[in-house]
Amino acid sequence: MSVPTRSRGQREDGHPDSRLARRQRRLEELLEAAGVVTGAELDAILDRYLATAKPANGARVVARAWVDEGFRHRLLADGNAAVAELGFSMGGGIQPQLLRVVENTPRLHNVVVCTLCSCYPLALLGPSPSWYRSEAYRSRVVRRPREVLEEFGLHLPGHVEVRVWDASAETRYMVVPRRPAGTEGMAEDALAGLVTRRGLIGTAAV
Ligand code: FE
Repeated sequence: MSVPTRSRGQREDGHPDSRLARRQRRLEELLEAAGVVTGAELDAILDRYLATAKPANGARVVARAWVDEGFRHRLLADGNAAVAELGFSMGGGIQPQLLRVVENTPRLHNVVVCTLCSCYPLALLGPSPSWYRSEAYRSRVVRRPREVLEEFGLHLPGHVEVRVWDASAETRYMVVPRRPAGTEGMAEDALAGLVTRRGLIGTAAV
């Protein structure tokens, strides 16, 4: 039996000893032992998946929501169905993931965390940044969201409510930032270029 040489068998959050990761690793070993698939083939599948998973995907979704009111409503009502309209899928992982999209408004700011580990909408945002996985962010953003956002350079007026969403293996969150003022005439592609990964997590304005 070949031995996996890379991070297959680990979750994206780097918790190799979690129960789910052990089951995944065991399944891979059985498939390889039975000759169903080789480690190299599994690596190729993972590489193909990761090659298409990037924050530009989430940015495209946001830009469409900014220019298309109907799409915005569908996105907030059923994230999975709406992103499929743009060719994106939350599948590809071990289990189906529910995508919940939350929208920033003049009175509400959303920020996403996974307090347990680092669950994240990988297909739309690519691999998570290291700060998202850090113990400091995971524990502090829940208790002191404003303080943490200040440290990211995001200063919110006192009347803006901050809502923290705790992601899980089953439910992943993405933020629709507020469309910046003065962008009324911009094309959808150019608008997508304004959206950052931090904006999609909620630790930046856009
Ligand atoms: Fe997690």
